[in-house]
Amino acid sequence: MKITFLGTGTSQGIPIIGSNHPVCLSNNSKDQRLRSSILIEKNTKILLIDCSPDFRYQMIQNNQKNIDAVLITHEHYDHIGGLEDLRPMNYFYDKNGTLMMKFIPIYGLVRVLDNLKKRYSYIFSSDQKKTNIIKISLNKLTENNYPFSILNINIYPLIIYHDHIPILGFRINNFAYITDASYIPSYTINQLQGLDILVINILRQKIHSYSFAIKETLNIIQMISSKKTFLTHISHLVGFHDKIQKKLPRNVYLAYDGLKITIK
Ligand SMILES: [Zn+2]
Repeated sequence: MKITFLGTGTSQGIPIIGSNHPVCLSNNSKDQRLRSSILIEKNTKILLIDCSPDFRYQMIQNNQKNIDAVLITHEHYDHIGGLEDLRPMNYFYDKNGTLMMKFIPIYGLVRVLDNLKKRYSYIFSSDQKKTNIIKISLNKLTENNYPFSILNINIYPLIIYHDHIPILGFRINNFAYITDASYIPSYTINQLQGLDILVINILRQKIHSYSFAIKETLNIIQMISSKKTFLTHISHLVGFHDKIQKKLPRNVYLAYDGLKITIK
């Protein structure tokens, strides 16, 4: 299974438009972060987790051409803003060279899908035969923690909290992806045992400083004891990539845009 980090930034990305913060002005490409999203390639199938407003650019930059299904963690703009740019992936050629059309399946919590229907009402109310409208199908996930299967890939939804709202993380084999968590319930911590790779955001509740938030996240990481951990959804306020990386414990890394990792 191959993971590509398409983006590792917080909701505004780095640099923030017009910002004079030193991290926003950094020339190090690892300090430039598009909105958070990953690609998972397994047995020729390609899953996308979250479809950021930077999705089109991320696909071109990483020379990716196809998406088979999309998992959505939650409905905030930085996680769904690029959905319409899935449109080129509605079309493909079959083995006879005939142009075919497919719907892209989107998976998310009922609340999240209802939100998409409101936000993109014209997609669902319009005549789906029109060629210039994206074709997506919505597939409900529940908060019951039961594993589900997409494209023959078994996925465990993980309930985490983004402030007060429940959102999803996902576990596939010994890999898990968690973003935007401010709190992880103990039953989810239990589901995260035995990981080879954990991807997690820097947990941050309202008034915390980032140094406190990093400390708090490292405590959680210790409870999960994954072999390796990559931090994502990173704000410019965290600091310079190279400087922060040096302060992190062994086997904990700041992810960066374009990073690829392979796992069993
Ligand atoms: Zn976010």
